Amino acid sequence: MNVLEGKSVFSGIAIGKISILQKVDTSVKRVHIEDVEAETARVEQAKDTAVAQLQKLYEKAVQEVGESGAAIFEVHQMMLDDEDYLDSIRNIIHTESVNAEYAVATTGDNFATMFAEMDDDYMKARAADVKDISDRLVRVLSGSGDGDLEASEPVIVVAEDLAPSETVQMDKSKVLAFVTRKGSSNSHTAILARTMNIPALINIEYDDSMNGKMAIVDGKGGRLIIDSDAETLKKFEDMKEEEQRQRAMLKELKGKATETKSGHKLHLYANIGSLSDVASVLTNDAEGIGLFRSEFIYLEKDNYPTEEEQFQIYKTVAQNMAGKKVIIRTLDIGADKQIDYFQMAHEENPAMGYRAIRICLDRPEVFKTQLRALFRASVFGNISIMYPMIISVTEVKQIKAIVEEVKKELTEQGIPFKEDVEQGVMIETPAAVMISDLLAKEVDFFSIGTNDLTQYTLAIDRQNAKLDNIYDSHHEAVLRMIQMVVENAHKEGIWAGICGELGADTTLTERFVKMGVDELSVSPTFVLPVRKIVREMN
Ligand code: PEP
Ligand code: MG
Repeated sequence: MNVLEGKSVFSGIAIGKISILQKVDTSVKRVHIEDVEAETARVEQAKDTAVAQLQKLYEKAVQEVGESGAAIFEVHQMMLDDEDYLDSIRNIIHTESVNAEYAVATTGDNFATMFAEMDDDYMKARAADVKDISDRLVRVLSGSGDGDLEASEPVIVVAEDLAPSETVQMDKSKVLAFVTRKGSSNSHTAILARTMNIPALINIEYDDSMNGKMAIVDGKGGRLIIDSDAETLKKFEDMKEEEQRQRAMLKELKGKATETKSGHKLHLYANIGSLSDVASVLTNDAEGIGLFRSEFIYLEKDNYPTEEEQFQIYKTVAQNMAGKKVIIRTLDIGADKQIDYFQMAHEENPAMGYRAIRICLDRPEVFKTQLRALFRASVFGNISIMYPMIISVTEVKQIKAIVEEVKKELTEQGIPFKEDVEQGVMIETPAAVMISDLLAKEVDFFSIGTNDLTQYTLAIDRQNAKLDNIYDSHHEAVLRMIQMVVENAHKEGIWAGICGELGADTTLTERFVKMGVDELSVSPTFVLPVRKIVREMN
């Protein structure tokens, strides 16, 4: 068994034969020509043909992956019409008296190098696009065909790199997975793979001897397993079967409302820990993000993330969710989530210690950095802010005062933000439950964190494996608390949801709906199972 480690750009499992894609040779010869005008005219003609080809590809992609996935082929058409790009080609033909193929290939290489050296990751990824359009132009000029997949059975496509046009041109029924040595998670090929629902890996160091071998693409672990042993194969076959069950359900329930037969609607959102989870939110058709655990941004770094770094992340999530609700929870560290650079003192009982909002109120400079990033990002989508581990109205008032300072500063600096960003609190302590009538007067929504609420209600450390069997989120005390919170929320006209793990427990979905819970936020893969239950209810 040979395991190659790489990076996953879209999760999923594929089992099948490897087909290493041999690209059509687009290397070009430098040929001296006399008639530079005629050569320039050839470029013009070839460009028109290439634009027409791209228009066809665009139409094919719209059918297969929708308008946003197909947009890249519109971009390619525009790139082909870019005057700087065309000027460079004409200039090389005229000054060096060389053939059009050579001028196009040289321009393509120069532009790709220029993009690759840019700081911005998005622009870096455009290097592949400019190479793609240049290769296309060369193929049109030299009359050679497109590199295509020749396979009689579905295969794992392995290649040096894949251009978006190659990806979309392939017969989808023949592709089990994409595996490349190069490429980035930001590339359009990765985006297309995600939209097409095809597992994809990058950074895999394959060699040609692997062609035709049986392999497993582990899109979760980011690995390509070649010639696996029987036990591993069985494990992945089982996982794949489960995945297929999920997909079938996904197909059936995607785009449908989360509502009971009598028309009662529930908001069904998803929980995420990072920007890369957003794809899963969208493929699982969640209506929004109900909990973005922002502390993971801090946990992944060895120093405080800057306002700008955070702003970019929140902004991108908001933009990718395109107007759907994105509830971002402010920093919730402490307890099991310790961060060295916060230099927190050792505590005997960290779960009941210095954590979450307590740290933020104690260290307003850290809190303000995050709030500035959040408010700045608010103009790019539908962001709400949620505060964790609340135990008193005083805390909420302190938060509000800090929020006002942040807004005042942003206004003074002329930085745009949304004035009416929804702000809510997590209800995850018994204290918050008992004063939920008072808290409801202060905030826009409640989200019940049943993981901590169970821990603090039952006095059972959620980290203690020994007590796992009595850590019971179904405990009547917890369920009554949920009921009380929902009632108090509704009395003040605000909504209440659940974002702890209990929200995904389908044995309780019906009970939650009957209690009047307005929203459930669950791991992306649980969105459709929960939707299914709700739709089966009367
Ligand atoms: C919870 O406590 O239920 C919750 C959602 O927050 P976390 O699990 O991140 O503590
Ligand atoms: Mg919690």
